[in-house]
Amino acid sequence: MSAVVAPVSRVERALAGWLVEQPAPLRRLPVGVLSREQKAAELQRVQELKARTAAYEAELVLGLADDSPDDDDPPPGTPGARRGSWAPDPELPGVSEFFTAELALVLNCGRVAAGKRAHRAWVYRESLPGTWAAMAAGELDEYRAMTLVEVLQHTAPALARRIEARLLPRAAEWTAGVLQKRALELLLELDPDAAQRRRKAAGRRADVRCYPSPQDGMTTMAADLPPEVAAACFEVIDQLARMLEADGDQRPIRELRTEVYAALLQRPWEHAGPPVTAHLQIVATLASLAGRSTEPGEVNGLPITAAHLRDLLRELDALGIRVPEGGSVTVGLTEEDGSVRATATLDQLRRLARRGCAHHPGTECGCAVLDRPEPTDRYTPSTAQHRFVHTRDRTCRFPTCGQRVGWADVDHVVPHAHGGPTDCANLCCLCRSHHRLKTHARGWRFAMGADGVLTVTTPSGITRTTRPPGMQPPPPAAEDPPERDEPGHDPPPF
Ligand SMILES: [Zn+2]
Ligand SMILES: [Zn+2]
Repeated sequence: MSAVVAPVSRVERALAGWLVEQPAPLRRLPVGVLSREQKAAELQRVQELKARTAAYEAELVLGLADDSPDDDDPPPGTPGARRGSWAPDPELPGVSEFFTAELALVLNCGRVAAGKRAHRAWVYRESLPGTWAAMAAGELDEYRAMTLVEVLQHTAPALARRIEARLLPRAAEWTAGVLQKRALELLLELDPDAAQRRRKAAGRRADVRCYPSPQDGMTTMAADLPPEVAAACFEVIDQLARMLEADGDQRPIRELRTEVYAALLQRPWEHAGPPVTAHLQIVATLASLAGRSTEPGEVNGLPITAAHLRDLLRELDALGIRVPEGGSVTVGLTEEDGSVRATATLDQLRRLARRGCAHHPGTECGCAVLDRPEPTDRYTPSTAQHRFVHTRDRTCRFPTCGQRVGWADVDHVVPHAHGGPTDCANLCCLCRSHHRLKTHARGWRFAMGADGVLTVTTPSGITRTTRPPGMQPPPPAAEDPPERDEPGHDPPPF
């Protein structure tokens, strides 16, 4: 897959082991005593350092990728083979499909961001070695290098190198905008089909997105479309808005267009389709219920009694909470630290509150009527376990992921086949992609505690922990040192 790697001697390995352990000193001068010229010179030195670091980062990313060959991945056509929208970047040939997940954990960033960095490093090595070397020498900044990657990443490496050779001598003189323009011009001159391929590649990345609008309190909804499709869509919206205007609607045309846009997508005039259903999830702390009881202090581990549930139902009724038609309401009861203790549907809560304790009917005995679901012997989790784990986890629990999950995406942390019980302490939500990784990737370790805290370790030995979203981290012990990674916390080194 990569270039021939020279054999590494034991001395070299020992030396590398020692070097990795050495602290990397960052030269920081006392800014207050620097002259204006010295500050400017120092800033230039920092820019060089950033470029060198970016080149070094790409080298490390590629090295880690080389350590993750695709030999062990499920081959195409077998049950575990990758397919569908969660297939990873196919532009890292020979590298395991699980590599970007590992890189995301190492860098503590999302999978898309990790995939982009890995791909960029790949392009430096295959197509833009001169750019990579210029960065490593501190002569070209990462932003301009990334501009070249953006334009030339889908071009055959030989052609990309030819274009690079012509641009690189002057690349640092031009603004990134000029560099991009020159690169595109050369590309279209030397490869007229490139525009078509770039558009196709952009089409594969196209999506509909929502993000905060510059207008206060609004959200922009945007779609990546071919220009002619976008123009046609806008034309439809504009014409319908003008018809409203002609009908006497006094509002500004901008407002009419946005109303038409939303109406076209929501189609309130079509009543034939299935009704939109809502699934509400309500979380109440046990402490707030027990606070009204006469028992002092200790709340954690308190039984959830019928009286608690009646209190809770009174509150929910006061808030006007009802089960929406075709939808559901799930209520989660949490301990003081936010960890989910028990879950039930609103209907179940009403039944339990009415029926009370089965052993002491007609009395306020204080027995528990609701608790964490019992383990089962079967492989498939019970409905109550599904509800509990979904309420506890809400999204994929893989560190840095947070994808929404479906009802089926509840995974045994220790596989059932290896003796892992079907118990909420051994079940967690994973998205399809990370479920696949956990099932098929070699060298990963997953471990979960009874409180639902999940620890994931990559084949390269990086460990990250996720706790259920509502749960508070344990309070720091009194002798713990203060947080160290806040910028500006460390005293300056002089
Ligand atoms: Zn009882
Ligand atoms: Zn995930």
